[in-house]
Amino acid sequence: MTVQADYVWMDGNFVKWQDAKVHVMTRALHYGAGVFEGIRAYPSNGGLGVFRLQDHMTRLLKSANVYRLKCRFTVDELCSATLELLRRNKIDSSAYIRPIMFSSDLAVNLDTLNGSSSIAICTFPMERLFEKSGLNVCVSSWRRIDDSSTPPLAKACGNYINSILAKIDASANGFDDAILLDRNGMVSEGTGENIFIVKSGKLVTPSLTCSILPGITRDTVMVVASDLRIGVEERAISRAELYMSDEVFFTGSAAEIEPILSIDKRTISDGKVGPTTAKLVDIYRKIVRGKEPRYLHWISKV
Ligand code: PMP
Repeated sequence: MTVQADYVWMDGNFVKWQDAKVHVMTRALHYGAGVFEGIRAYPSNGGLGVFRLQDHMTRLLKSANVYRLKCRFTVDELCSATLELLRRNKIDSSAYIRPIMFSSDLAVNLDTLNGSSSIAICTFPMERLFEKSGLNVCVSSWRRIDDSSTPPLAKACGNYINSILAKIDASANGFDDAILLDRNGMVSEGTGENIFIVKSGKLVTPSLTCSILPGITRDTVMVVASDLRIGVEERAISRAELYMSDEVFFTGSAAEIEPILSIDKRTISDGKVGPTTAKLVDIYRKIVRGKEPRYLHWISKV
């Protein structure tokens, strides 16, 4: 998928897409020293609305703080810049928004603390992430990174080299995506998604101590499930428990709510999208498009 739009926001300026460049010696490119976000905008009540924009920008600055990357913009300023960028790019269909803050010095040392950082926001039209609905996935032989080395709670660029190892193996073996286990061998998350299982009508998802990114879609599902009086439990899940679940699904801003139909060639239940997943997919679709009044506070109008 090639992406494109007219403008990119860089360090406070709107620059033409083709001029939004960095030098090949930029530190972040060599060492993964950056943090980023993935956000979506949807057609909503006659305009465009960004889903949980404030929450994403807040997480961006919290991730930056872990690596002590300095940002001269506030959450509010980053949100306003995003909305203005969507207007300038005249985007009126479903779109993806990618803010990235990175160590911008042209240097071969690792001292990001005494260096400079840059921040950019890109937006471009994007529909579904996965080409099909309902995934066949594997459990990766690669383990998820850990809080004691590169903390998965922060959405850092370098973390994704771990996801890439899992993704390329999955892809080479004909799977749509991979699930990673944490260092204790318990279920962690997908390559770019959180994971939920359904057991006797109740949701279970790995807790924050299972090496996961605290996903905003995960949080959305937990809030909505509780409003629908569906029980939610955060705890460790074993690999076999995954195989024996009634339903399994991924959540992510890009992936949305994506049913998982098989894991390591074991069909989950009857191999069809289960009733709880279907219900959540349906309401999520409505919420992000501004069709559920109760959750309109999550949408920033462009
Ligand atoms: N885990 C990882 C590793 C991710 O990259 C993502 C996508 N940001 C998620 C989980 C889901 O997070 P969110 O719902 O905030 O997009």
